[in-house]
Amino acid sequence: MRETLVLNASFEPLSTVSLRRAVVLVMQDKAVVEQAHPGLRIRAAAMDIPVPQVIRLRRYVRVPFRQRAPWSRRGVLVRDRHRCAYCGRRATTVDHLVPRSRGGADSWLNTVAACAQDNQFKADRTPEQAGMRLLTQPFEPTPADALLLALGVRDRAGLPEWLARPA
Ligand SMILES: [Zn+2]
Repeated sequence: MRETLVLNASFEPLSTVSLRRAVVLVMQDKAVVEQAHPGLRIRAAAMDIPVPQVIRLRRYVRVPFRQRAPWSRRGVLVRDRHRCAYCGRRATTVDHLVPRSRGGADSWLNTVAACAQDNQFKADRTPEQAGMRLLTQPFEPTPADALLLALGVRDRAGLPEWLARPA
């Protein structure tokens, strides 16, 4: 899928994101379309926007996009799409693979989204000790992901099906 260039409110280029994510930013009013593919529109239920080539954030964002994304609980939930790493159901908590009580860090690679039930069951153990398998491995967000995390974008929200596929 096409990449869309993201400009800061100051017009400074920040990053590129997938078309899908660019549309999410525009739909959620986080960005405006600066340049669009001529003649192409995206139409869905209550939506009709130009296909963005370049978008610009409405607000100036001060984030080290080109560096590592700062870890946060909310960021882990967004990264994992609010899906429990152990059972795939809706996650509302963040689990530390190596528990904090055992020196586990607040880091992208040591944390996953988890449902409250699995988090409680796992308790003060590693997944191996608890006999739990990870459905997905934790990863460090890319600079483009970091941008979306910093903006608090709710991914997939209200997107037409063809855009809602993972980038
Ligand atoms: Zn679960």
